Amino acid sequence: MDIRVTETNIEKSAEILRMALPMLSRNKIPVTPENYTVWFHYIQGDIQELNDQIDRHLQTNKPFSPEFNDTLYRKHFEHRQINQIESARNQLTNAISETSGSIGETSNDAQRFSEILDNFNTSCDTASSISDVLGVLKDVLGETQLMKDSMGQMQVQFDTRTAELNKLREELDQVRHQASTDPLTSLANRGTFNDTLETLLSSSEASRKPITLVMFDIDHFKRINDSFGHLVGDKVIRFVADILRKSTKGGDTPARYGGEEFAIILPDTQLEGGIRLAEKIRAAICATNLVKSGGQSLGRITVSGGVSQYQNGEDADSFIYRADKALYESKNNGRNCISRAV
Ligand code: GH3
Ligand code: MG
Ligand code: MG
Repeated sequence: MDIRVTETNIEKSAEILRMALPMLSRNKIPVTPENYTVWFHYIQGDIQELNDQIDRHLQTNKPFSPEFNDTLYRKHFEHRQINQIESARNQLTNAISETSGSIGETSNDAQRFSEILDNFNTSCDTASSISDVLGVLKDVLGETQLMKDSMGQMQVQFDTRTAELNKLREELDQVRHQASTDPLTSLANRGTFNDTLETLLSSSEASRKPITLVMFDIDHFKRINDSFGHLVGDKVIRFVADILRKSTKGGDTPARYGGEEFAIILPDTQLEGGIRLAEKIRAAICATNLVKSGGQSLGRITVSGGVSQYQNGEDADSFIYRADKALYESKNNGRNCISRAV
């Protein structure tokens, strides 16, 4: 009799396995390599004579005795040709190689599994009968299940680790944000201002790009605190910070320099550009009529400003000092104005 061993793959084998096991179990047939061979081909339907014999037996409702199972195997399989064993073995070897290749280097467990599969490959090469091959298949299926369980556990561990790492990263981002930001205004704090300026100055010698610094101080701020209290004073500080934030673009660094003092670092900007921006901000603050929740006006809020452009060779303190000096010139000139540094 000619038994065709059809081209199969691991999915197909698994599908047959899923169908065969309940049938074997329902008919109380032990899962031996021989019995599995019989039912594998019954489900595959490639040996008509075998299927007819089993169907007839099923109709009688008689049990599948060990003798009957033995008969089925011997009649339909024992005399199978060596090339059929070869073919089955090759299929198994290919399936193992494919699986082994695809799981390659995923983990130590996978590495172990890969080695086991390689060992099975060797076992396949030395298998001389279909029952040897099926024995190997059974072991592979067992190991595959173990690997599946192990991969499942690894996935859970991996997901947990990923979640932990994401949480940690969020916390670190938060800490970093808190450390670099002023809590009242969310602008860069003095430390970030200093760091940003130092970094920029150290690269400016090479790049030769202009850097301009603007400094502001709220005019007569003590009066605001005295007249309306510190909480209102804080709101005024936040209002000025918002105007700075809205008026600047990506590369600029607006910062809260001190109590009611602000600074903006402007990379790639000449003195004239800095003065234009400072003037725009001054005008925007002055033009807004701030009112308390009860409707009472806070009066005109104004700022004074000073602008300096970085001079090659000077240090950060000198650069800041010149902007600050210009700012106090604005104070001396009657406030609510912008002065340029010399
Ligand atoms: P000038 O026009 O000369 O700048 O007058 P000024 O009243 O603004 O004087 P100065 O800049 O010296 O006063 C700053 C005041 O700002 C002193 C301090 O009480 C107040 N201040 C500093 N930080 C804060 C803060 O975070 N909140 C509030 N509400 N007030 C602050
Ligand atoms: Mg001040
Ligand atoms: Mg002031």
